[in-house]
Amino acid sequence: MKKISKLLIGTNNKGKYKEIKDLLPKYIKTHSTSEFKLKSPRENGLTFKENSIIKSKHFSKKTKLICLADDSGLEIDILDQSPGIYSARWGGKKGDFKKGIDRVYRELTKKDLNWKHKKVKARFICALSICYLDKKIASVLGKVEGYISEKPKGKNGFGYDSIFIPKNKRKTFGEMSSLQKYKMDHRFNAFKKIKRFL
Ligand code: IMP
Repeated sequence: MKKISKLLIGTNNKGKYKEIKDLLPKYIKTHSTSEFKLKSPRENGLTFKENSIIKSKHFSKKTKLICLADDSGLEIDILDQSPGIYSARWGGKKGDFKKGIDRVYRELTKKDLNWKHKKVKARFICALSICYLDKKIASVLGKVEGYISEKPKGKNGFGYDSIFIPKNKRKTFGEMSSLQKYKMDHRFNAFKKIKRFL
């Protein structure tokens, strides 16, 4: 298979862009959606995988470049896997992460007043897809299991990082250095699976 030498990173989220760029082999020349001033498509898929394919095809068709796109989010078991594919949308139109976190705590309290004394199981999921124009080249899923912290901790990262403690660790992703987080998170686990297509 021919190696990919040029790739568009199909995300308008700065946190994800940085992480994906750091994971890619250095011989690949990367492009960002901001270079082309591209808007994100409507994510009307029902799964992480579907949404990552929608984004990847959309950005590839606009730029005529091979595109790697991700769709990711947080699933909380006692909230029936919410926010799930709605993780970004819980932050409202402006993508205010604090708003999303407040909503998580509100919903947990609604569900169980005593939740802070229990281990609330959660996981981050990441679907990564590579498409060229309307053709899917690869699509994979990665996960990291963990728990919801009883309060936000740490200022690193983005999104729900400050409330997620990965399994067998004491710190939230927000308290870890980016390098430490990248080595164990959902995006890295998905990356391991998609690497052979690059
Ligand atoms: P989307 O994939 O652009 O629809 O957005 C996914 C949303 O899930 C982000 O806006 C974050 O709120 C959340 N999310 C995904 N990955 C991470 C992560 O690594 N850390 C924290 N939050 C994340």
